[in-house]
Amino acid sequence: MKLNYLTQGMVKKSYFCTLLGHRFVETKKVNAHFSEFECTVCKMQATNDIRNNKIALTSELKDINETLFYINLKKQFVSRFYFRKKE
Ligand SMILES: [Zn+2]
Repeated sequence: MKLNYLTQGMVKKSYFCTLLGHRFVETKKVNAHFSEFECTVCKMQATNDIRNNKIALTSELKDINETLFYINLKKQFVSRFYFRKKE
């Protein structure tokens, strides 16, 4: 019974989103080109593709974003170290 009620609520929320569109807020900046977003209404997670279209965040895409994020961190660290050494 309780489970039925929960799914009904979820359907209602996503129905709101299909009518008015998702209200995405940025939850994580991966690098200069990619970010992760979450809908404040239905909590759907999304990311953007190379054409800046929002696409649903699958576990595979999440892994890719995580990797890109660490590559970006490494790049920042290396460039900082390089410039400090140069001075
Ligand atoms: Zn939504």
